[in-house]
Amino acid sequence: MTVSFYSGQQIPLEMHKVRIVQKLNLPPVERRVEAMKEAGYNTFLLKNVDVFMDMLTDSGVNAMSDRQQAAMLEADDSYAGSATFTKLEQKIEEIFGKKYFLPAHQGRACENILGQVYVTPGKVVPMNYHFTTSKAHITVNGGTVEEVFKDEALNLTSEDLFKGNVDIDKLVAIIEEKGADNIAFVRVESGTNLIGGQPHSVENMKAVRKVCDQYNLKLVYDISLLADNLYFIKTREDAYKDASIRDITRELADLSDILYFSARKLGFARGGGIATNSEEDYLRMREFITLYEGFLTYGGMSVREMEAITVGLDETMDEEYIAQGPQFIQYMSDELQKRGVPVVTPAGGLGCHIDATRFLSHIPQEQYTAGALAAAIYIASGARGMERGTMSEQRDENGVETLAHMELVRMAMPRRVFTLSQINYVVDRIAWLYDNRELIGGMKFVEEPKVLRFFFGKLDALTDWPTQLAKKFREDFGESL
Ligand SMILES: *Cc1c(COP(=O)(O)O)cnc(C)c1O
Repeated sequence: MTVSFYSGQQIPLEMHKVRIVQKLNLPPVERRVEAMKEAGYNTFLLKNVDVFMDMLTDSGVNAMSDRQQAAMLEADDSYAGSATFTKLEQKIEEIFGKKYFLPAHQGRACENILGQVYVTPGKVVPMNYHFTTSKAHITVNGGTVEEVFKDEALNLTSEDLFKGNVDIDKLVAIIEEKGADNIAFVRVESGTNLIGGQPHSVENMKAVRKVCDQYNLKLVYDISLLADNLYFIKTREDAYKDASIRDITRELADLSDILYFSARKLGFARGGGIATNSEEDYLRMREFITLYEGFLTYGGMSVREMEAITVGLDETMDEEYIAQGPQFIQYMSDELQKRGVPVVTPAGGLGCHIDATRFLSHIPQEQYTAGALAAAIYIASGARGMERGTMSEQRDENGVETLAHMELVRMAMPRRVFTLSQINYVVDRIAWLYDNRELIGGMKFVEEPKVLRFFFGKLDALTDWPTQLAKKFREDFGESL
């Protein structure tokens, strides 16, 4: 699996070479303070020209392969009946064993359709953990989300290799309490995004299937982050250490009734789709594709992207490709820990998750602990991560702040994008920041949208801490960028 070094050093080795490059810009720390202020202390609102390493997300920013680029040139441009769509549809059937495929422009578009078709006022959707857009599309249709994760899921320094597992007892209890008729569907998310890219096991998925069969419920499987989850099953679930990635994928897909994905994450391109073997479900969802997405043979995607997804899904079955992300994340987490920086363990997929609660124990959640840390990391390094904490929640009906279960900053690891020296640079700057953490202060909203406020909301620093931090940076680093 991994290549050993004669020196005994344990570092991940890129099993690909870089053939197209993009010049990066690292602005001086004074400009970084200004840029952060202009962006309302919200890393989503930074302009990419001011960003050195874009670690905001893995969405739509994964590097394409030579094979993907080549396939894009062959795309068949037609509104209806495109050969490109047929190729993608066949690839979905080959890999996931699902006959019917509905294309959509991204993951939340699939969630919109699932929400409109299956969620009516009063319906409940149990899930291992919510994702922002998945929850929004359930609540906007009058439903509620019931999270049935293991208690261990919220333990940030755990030894549990499958923190993304559904707690089966809690699942059964919620179905009994609400009544099976009131359950819209059960949703399992692979590589649970908001708890740090933590995987679920095949064994757990089998147990969920059993419960769904017992109560005659649909199992909807969000496979946006499947690539990382597959790697973790292969390397952490004993029964699957000799199974091929393809076989694991097929076994998981067979356990679900409907699966959907964001191809901005899965498949190294941009797009999405829903797949099922049920003709009835296919027909129920189909009309919404033409209403919201486009004709059934593109669903809002360009034919070029569909070609790239087809090849990208194939590459997702290649262990050497999907290993790179989790291995780099493990490396970054280990290096940060060596320097005392609190990170989520075990390292998950998607990105390195820093525990802002322990990093900034002097900043209360009401002052957006993780948001403040994300702003400070940008100022210290030019790398932008994403706040995953109270800023990403929304207030309740009475305007009361919903405090997040955890305050994390996610430094995403877009697949196949960064080199190890870049990761070493960001580790170095975060370690410096940790040693100067008492300089960091809290924030408050000055512009606060009601829905998904973390995308557009603007904040202000409660004191002039960003300037003080930059001053200390100059003292310690001299003329260095
Ligand atoms: C990103 C993501 C989505 C939404 O996909 P988009 O393409 O961003 O709309 C849904 N579920 C999970 C688990 C995700 O990570």
